[in-house]
Amino acid sequence: MKLNQLTIVQAHEGLKNGDFSSVDLTQACLKRIKERNEIINAFITVTEDLALEEAKKADKMIEDGKQQMLTGIPFSVKDAICVKGVRSTGSAKILDNYIAPYEATVITKIRRQGTVLLGKTNCDAFGHGASNENSMYGPVRNPHDESKVAGGSSGGAAAALADHQCIFSIAEDTGGSIRYPASFCGVVGLRPSYGRNSRYGIMPMASSFDTVGPMAKTVEDVAILMEIMAGEDAMDATTVPDVVPEYSQKLKVKSQKFKIGIPKEYMELEGLDTEVKDKIEIKIKELENIGHEIVEVSLPHTKYAIPVYYIAVPSEDSSNLGRLDGIRYGAQADADNLYDVYAKSRGQGFPEEVKRRIMIGTYALSAGYYDAYYRKAQKVRTLIIQDFEQAFEQVDLLVTPTSPFPAFNLDEKKDDVLAMYLADVFMSPAAVAGIPGLSVPVGETKAGLPVGMQIMGPRLGEINVLSLGHTIRIVLKNYSEI
Ligand code: GLN
Repeated sequence: MKLNQLTIVQAHEGLKNGDFSSVDLTQACLKRIKERNEIINAFITVTEDLALEEAKKADKMIEDGKQQMLTGIPFSVKDAICVKGVRSTGSAKILDNYIAPYEATVITKIRRQGTVLLGKTNCDAFGHGASNENSMYGPVRNPHDESKVAGGSSGGAAAALADHQCIFSIAEDTGGSIRYPASFCGVVGLRPSYGRNSRYGIMPMASSFDTVGPMAKTVEDVAILMEIMAGEDAMDATTVPDVVPEYSQKLKVKSQKFKIGIPKEYMELEGLDTEVKDKIEIKIKELENIGHEIVEVSLPHTKYAIPVYYIAVPSEDSSNLGRLDGIRYGAQADADNLYDVYAKSRGQGFPEEVKRRIMIGTYALSAGYYDAYYRKAQKVRTLIIQDFEQAFEQVDLLVTPTSPFPAFNLDEKKDDVLAMYLADVFMSPAAVAGIPGLSVPVGETKAGLPVGMQIMGPRLGEINVLSLGHTIRIVLKNYSEI
């Protein structure tokens, strides 16, 4: 096995035993990036010099007996997350030359351990999309089949990981952006509960939906990362003060038997690919065979999750993106008057989809329409939250496909805006309700494309979500490895 193919746990052990250095590990990842970035396009910025400098420092820490879990381990960060002193574009040209003067709390927590930053990963601009085709730096290709999309919005994060260009990735999920590309690329990705991890330093999309979470090659690695990332932060008033559980320790105890709910509205969905459905049903059967209880549940308002999401999110978006005007933030276009400065800076600096969201949101919030759209969406949001609360009175966890279909061809759905919104069908409900969702690979289609299963749990119920994910990956071994 090559060094760049290791998991966090394997890399940590190897560094501890002196089998290789952090510089060796970093060079292996940088070599892979150099060979593959032209094709996969996972990275917008590669911080090679910084990575090698950090790797040398990490080797010194290890030599001095100061190794922590992530010391010396190379990772990538989605470009919509700020890293101090590093170019952070959010995949939009308006921030093409933006060097972040501050850093996301979760990134500081990770870097404090002596990790190695390899660079910033490609995504749909400011997280708007599900295929990574709304990036102004070109689409990301799926390492399993380069003619397919990697999923979005965090396509670069998932593809870099699946292609072994890094050991783990940090990304953002507003309405599926971690889970969706994780499923297309065959890696593990967790959207944490809203408020579990600090959002400080994330380029805001929809502040009441945004979360930041880990992607890794195993559930155990994801659990380790959550222990480091989670917790209250004075810089984000929505973070919760609850103690951060020892997620990775919990995985090691004998796996618990859960009552697992299958939402009937999901499995009966028209347009659910038969191969995806089969893989999910096989896995559900296997879970039953090893002693988990499977019951059907109903989430009656789930059909409104996409409409609620696509009113509420653009509304928050239109306000958050207001700061990117070429004056307060962002590249300023040449213009003769103030109006043109705004119009040209934003016109050239945003891709179509971002403009569309700003227009939808501005419309939904404007006087006369506010009650009909925004307020109504908020009311239905409450009903969706209540659906989940009722479901979690009956069951411990819910299981669904992550995406209704496997990775599709580049350009296939690019111009079909509605089809792209509908692709979020299994993603939006957890986002609307602020609950955790984990995507784990459960096999491949005949064409060799990964299929992901989503596990959802009650708010702050990450432990059980991760525990079931670990069971699927470790106990039920007949899944395909990345
Ligand atoms: N597909 C969703 C959207 O376009 C994903 C957003 C996200 O999670 N950043 O809004």
